[in-house]
Amino acid sequence: MTNIFNRKQAIVIGGGITGLAACYRLIAESKKRGIPLDVKLLEASERVGGVIRTSKQDGFIIEHGPDAFLSVKPWAKALCEELGIEDQLIGTNPKERRSFVLRKGKLYPVPEGFYMMAPASLWPFVKTPIFSWLGKLRMGLDLFIPRGKDDDESVEHFVKRRLGKEAFTRLAQPMIGGVYTTDAKDLSLKATMPQFIEMEREYGSIIKALIARKKKSQQSAGSTSGPRYSLFLSFESGMQTLIDTLVERLPDSCIQLGSKVNRVENSPDGEGWHVHLNNQERMDADLVCVALPAWGSATLVETVAPELAKQLASIPYASSATINLAFRREEVAHPLDGMGFVVPTGEGRSILGCSFSHVKFEGRAPVDYVLLRSFMADVFHAALFNQSESELIESVLGDLRELLGIKGTPTFATVSKHSKAMAQYRVGHLDVVSQIEAYSRKLRGFALAGNAYRGRGIPDCINSGEEAAQILLDSLRD
Ligand SMILES: Cc1cc2nc3c(=O)[nH]c(=O)nc-3n(C[C@H](O)[C@H](O)[C@H](O)COP(=O)(O)OP(=O)(O)OC[C@H]3O[C@@H](n4cnc5c(N)ncnc54)[C@H](O)[C@@H]3O)c2cc1C
Repeated sequence: MTNIFNRKQAIVIGGGITGLAACYRLIAESKKRGIPLDVKLLEASERVGGVIRTSKQDGFIIEHGPDAFLSVKPWAKALCEELGIEDQLIGTNPKERRSFVLRKGKLYPVPEGFYMMAPASLWPFVKTPIFSWLGKLRMGLDLFIPRGKDDDESVEHFVKRRLGKEAFTRLAQPMIGGVYTTDAKDLSLKATMPQFIEMEREYGSIIKALIARKKKSQQSAGSTSGPRYSLFLSFESGMQTLIDTLVERLPDSCIQLGSKVNRVENSPDGEGWHVHLNNQERMDADLVCVALPAWGSATLVETVAPELAKQLASIPYASSATINLAFRREEVAHPLDGMGFVVPTGEGRSILGCSFSHVKFEGRAPVDYVLLRSFMADVFHAALFNQSESELIESVLGDLRELLGIKGTPTFATVSKHSKAMAQYRVGHLDVVSQIEAYSRKLRGFALAGNAYRGRGIPDCINSGEEAAQILLDSLRD
């Protein structure tokens, strides 16, 4: 596939953050290694960014997909530093870091120090009305319950086993369900929150481990110097900054929009790849990175690697919708003194949660306005996805009017649907991923990347794209 100028050809399929990161790394690393390489990114739609999209309107900054990334996973922050945009990073509002949970139609603050499923601070936990006394006592039993077996188990099973049913239904389920857009009864603990397995192993108790972790981080906060990052980061101008910067740094001819790939095949000499597009065009490459949701990747490799395709297709995906609503401040009775709220499924609402975007990050709405960003997912409300945009807005409004005391109509409303965009890491997920990796390794000059494998957050996707780039370049050496 090497062209007449003796340059190798690489094709990245899918222009979400994973594909963009893979492209950027392929170019940067090939230069470093002295490998002459041309890289093409093929994107089916007319824009890159995938689920990441920010728009601006009348002084509002509106996130249609993700609104932040975790700073504790290093890959996104490291990429921002490499791209020279770390000065545009912003943390969450330090004055209002708490959030709320719905309980019997009323919003209560999540007790300070509560982490996903258990408390790290005892007094706020003792005082909270979210749990009954019996529920609190049951959670306290975590200090004495013996360690579990090493098998993968669901998040629901783990939380109920260690901390009881109330801990799960009233707080862990909505907090975890909101992050993973999934039903925690199926969610693999090993694949999503292995830190809790480690805590159980090391301390024999989640509460003990969280208290120790808090002490440690307080000590290190006292001893380190330099900038301290908030747990969640975004950009002054929204998440689109990362996409726009990556696009700017790629060569002009690199991105090819409106290019849906149907199939990839080995070239007959086995030395490279044929990439077949929707429009009957064929492109040839030495290296191919497929950076799509697993179901999309499965279709592409069906002929060349049917077993791999089968495993890829077995990873389920959820669909979700983000609904942004703007109001004048005086139209909302609730003080909105937090970053947002989450909703347990038992509350029978249409939304999974709502971020108070204008509080969470500075500059998201003009003074005197608020921006509320709600989520829905088909995992909990299958019927909602048959509804029109205006019906979805009405459902969300119904909930928000009641919970936040909203009067009047929104200044504007946007609905962004994300069809089959969130991989669901079911119990046993990591075994499936190991098999996928083993099949994929057998295909020379081929790599998979994306949110289906070892992490679904933006930092994980960047890491996955970057690792794929390294695997591909290493394959040229073999
Ligand atoms: C609503 C929502 C909110 C989220 N919130 C957060 C958050 O706050 N923080 C966080 O860290 N993570 C969040 N995530 C997760 C994270 O944003 C995603 O996992 C990540 O952005 C996925 O990126 P990707 O490039 O792998 O896939 P995608 O963004 O899905 O991109 C895939 C791209 O491939 C293209 N494509 C598809 N098929 C083909 C084909 N056959 N040929 C060519 N191109 C094709 C698509 O058009 C798309 O552009 C969120 C996800 C969603 C859906």
